[in-house]
Amino acid sequence: MAIDNEIILKGRLDGNQRNRLVRLLDMLYTPGELAHEIGFEVRQVYRVYIPLGCPHEKDSTGRLWINGAEFRDWVKDLYQKRSLGPDEAFCLSCKKTIKMISPEKYQKGRLSYYISNCPFCGRKLARIITKSKRIDDQP
Ligand SMILES: [Zn+2]
Repeated sequence: MAIDNEIILKGRLDGNQRNRLVRLLDMLYTPGELAHEIGFEVRQVYRVYIPLGCPHEKDSTGRLWINGAEFRDWVKDLYQKRSLGPDEAFCLSCKKTIKMISPEKYQKGRLSYYISNCPFCGRKLARIITKSKRIDDQP
């Protein structure tokens, strides 16, 4: 499954939302409750987090439940600044660090990122370049 990089960027939590992650308990939330706790749109759960592999379960009526603590760990992990080498990215399918092969650099607003494909599973990988590590291409 390829990741749409636009989706990754949309799901990034801002500072206030990240601070609210501590409120989440080790219990099941509906997407609506989760969205309310953190302060994002419910549709973000369905359009962003579930496609990206957010841990969840479905009950017999098809209703979706997300464990708060698992969501916190998962979302932190997804957007965390990892201690990666300059040519590395983390593959969520393989659950391991891989060396990026001919990554392409992109810029969206103030955000820079690399796109590369996992050499093992072919998944599209996005690596956000943090400001401190950002290479300024401007003369
Ligand atoms: Zn992979």
